[in-house]
Amino acid sequence: MIAEHPVVRLSQVGRSYGRGEHQVHALRDVTASIDPGELLAVVGPSGSGKSTLLNLIGTLDRPSWGQVLIEGHDVSRLDDRELSALRAHRIGFVFQHFHLAEGIRAVDNVADGLLYTGRSLRTRRERAETALHRVGLGHRLGHRPHELSGGERQRVAIARAVVGDPALLLADEPTGALDTRSGDMVTGLLRDLNAAGTTVVVITHDTELAAALPRRILVRDGVLVEDSAAAESPAASPAGDRRAQETGI
Ligand code: ADP
Ligand code: MG
Repeated sequence: MIAEHPVVRLSQVGRSYGRGEHQVHALRDVTASIDPGELLAVVGPSGSGKSTLLNLIGTLDRPSWGQVLIEGHDVSRLDDRELSALRAHRIGFVFQHFHLAEGIRAVDNVADGLLYTGRSLRTRRERAETALHRVGLGHRLGHRPHELSGGERQRVAIARAVVGDPALLLADEPTGALDTRSGDMVTGLLRDLNAAGTTVVVITHDTELAAALPRRILVRDGVLVEDSAAAESPAASPAGDRRAQETGI
């Protein structure tokens, strides 16, 4: 039997920006692996490299050194077309500020998540409606982003991210612009999607949320300084819990 690939495998991954005296090492030698079905938080101070890490996992960016494997595919060996295809079919993104197209109905914002699949407009709209029902917005299909609350906009963005049934959902501070109640709803949705089989990676400043997730990765100054999965039996171990409290994750 062939063992299943991890969804993500990072080996000694680094990313630097600029050169000479202006060079910034946003990420240094990060090694980690994420299995299918995991739900994990990436935490760390502002500027520590969290978004850089998520962009590398999402193949929106290529590492300066090291290796990124997505479902066994070495990102550095794929050309732009292959990379776009991998991203379109296997990865969904959610951002802090939603990134919805203004003036476009919710259903079409979501249907656009299927643009690269070659499906007909009719099929794309049908799937978009289903996805919007799934996030509790079946009654807002024709609303434009400015007619929706922040929480509703984020739910549209989540529907768009998952309409193509990706293996991996990446969320960069998805509750960062929301009030507590809307944030809780979005968090609940991410949990539901994970329970239904999607691997979910969420960057969050919300220590309560992070502490409640099965796995936490702590990044500081571009370095992965703590991975709760590396501690023995982190869920059951008091030592793991104590460590989480000490590091604030
Ligand atoms: P976080 O998401 O944890 O706040 P980022 O990954 O956005 O951190 O950024 C990590 C570091 O890399 C920061 O010092 C940031 O200023 C720098 N950085 C991020 N993107 C770029 C870029 N495109 N050009 C130059 N520096 C960047
Ligand atoms: Mg960031």
